Amino acid sequence: MDTLAVDFDKVNGLVPAIVQDENSKEVLMLGYMNKEALDQSVKSGKVTFFSRSKQRLWTKGETSGNFLLIRKIELDCDRDTLLIQANPQGPVCHKGDDTCFAHQNQSKSFFIDELRKVIKDRKNNPSTKSYTTSLFASGINKMAQKVGEEAVELVIEAKDDDKKLFLGEAADLMFHYLVLLEAKGYELDEVMEVLISRHQK
Ligand code: AMP
Ligand code: ZN
Ligand code: ZN
Ligand code: ZN
Repeated sequence: MDTLAVDFDKVNGLVPAIVQDENSKEVLMLGYMNKEALDQSVKSGKVTFFSRSKQRLWTKGETSGNFLLIRKIELDCDRDTLLIQANPQGPVCHKGDDTCFAHQNQSKSFFIDELRKVIKDRKNNPSTKSYTTSLFASGINKMAQKVGEEAVELVIEAKDDDKKLFLGEAADLMFHYLVLLEAKGYELDEVMEVLISRHQK
């Protein structure tokens, strides 16, 4: 990133930096960076602020070990705010919580993308111990058949009131559906495009 692009004059030398979890996209904390803090963050790959209370550079995690490893730094439209995607090495809040902003009602559906990455990796880097790899090795027809089987199992559980069994089959179906999509070489976003286009009609 071009760190010079921040308009430090406009923000009196301290640019606010919003730190977001790279996976869940949860807002973790907010801090301020001067040019030195930003340079050090970029160089070290660890979020480093200028602490207004300590009046010095502060690498988050310097005593707790809970560093924020930087994955991406983005500048906003008018160059006066940073959005940092990071991988937290431990609880971010000094009170012990994962985030300084409690009560974010975070959806867990981000995990679908995590899972898709793992599935893609099992396809590209076959591992003898992996069930997912064995599915890819079995061929498209078998994989499609698996989706059918899991769908039938879900139908059967839908007739009963066993939440655990129903959710288990719902998970099985989603997993095998994602495997089939990957095997066909399609992205989940392509399915979403179809759904969105129908919605707009
Ligand atoms: P750490 O950077 O995690 O090693 O913590 C060092 C010190 O920074 C703590 O003792 C707190 O005073 C302060 N601190 C740590 N995390 C936060 C936070 N999320 N918000 C505000 N202050 C913090
Ligand atoms: Zn702005
Ligand atoms: Zn906090
Ligand atoms: Zn099943």
